[in-house]
Amino acid sequence: MRLEGKVAIISGGARGQGAAEAKMFAREGAKVVFGDILDEDGKKVEAEIAEAGGEALYVTLDVTDEDSWNSAVETAVSRFGKVDILVNNAGIAIWSAGDDATVEEWDRVMDVNAKGVFLGTRAVIPEMRKAGGGSIINISSISGMVGQETIHPGYNASKGAVRILTKSTAIQYAKEGIRCNSVHPGPVMTAMTERGWADPERRQLTEQRTPLGRYADADEIAYGVLFLASDEASFMTGSEMVIDGGVTAQ
Ligand code: NAD
Repeated sequence: MRLEGKVAIISGGARGQGAAEAKMFAREGAKVVFGDILDEDGKKVEAEIAEAGGEALYVTLDVTDEDSWNSAVETAVSRFGKVDILVNNAGIAIWSAGDDATVEEWDRVMDVNAKGVFLGTRAVIPEMRKAGGGSIINISSISGMVGQETIHPGYNASKGAVRILTKSTAIQYAKEGIRCNSVHPGPVMTAMTERGWADPERRQLTEQRTPLGRYADADEIAYGVLFLASDEASFMTGSEMVIDGGVTAQ
């Protein structure tokens, strides 16, 4: 198993990519603490993992709140003894062009997507130090690499912040054996993108813009995250893993 003996924390794990990662990590032998603000969905995922023979614990976690992060880390340490892996996956999307965008939307998306990653990283560093190293994976987006017509500028800015925050974390903690990499998914079929794939016209447009001609399944992103979390990626830090069906290759 690829994560045997590791303890992982995953944010935004109640559904979508975070839930796929929690399940996959548990299948690969990790002990997983995953948090979200959607408690009912999170508890369901926890039960599914237990039923499949994995070890995972759901906690309420609001990534914009420092105390909430500290309590998630405390739970991981008291239950499983340490923290080796953090996946900063929680995120929100806002769909509107620059002239429709509001300041409130900007603040909210930066709070969850960018500040949430900063707070999560800061919360786990002391435990990773104690463990003698660790792997942090930040879920950015292709929206952190290129501009897009129908995406709120705050979403692009927040994901760009995640991209460079990843490199700053990688450089600042490399000597302590803590690696940090970003993942940049293209369109993934989750609740976040439902307004795109549920509308036949929008879905067709996204599929046409994607060389592989479809949305990704959440597992197709989770496999990349699994690799970065594992010791197989022991010489990778500060890098950008693009999993986008070819969108940014054009
Ligand atoms: P999703 O909406 O299914 O999952 C996001 C999860 O984050 C949800 O469970 C949500 O409740 C949680 N969340 C939101 N605010 C939170 C908060 N304050 N505290 C804790 N949890 C919170 O969408 P997804 O596609 O699984 O998104 C996962 C990540 O991937 C996000 O960071 C997203 O921006 C990124 N992403 C998604 C796509 C896509 O096409 N779906 C593409 C690129 C990047």
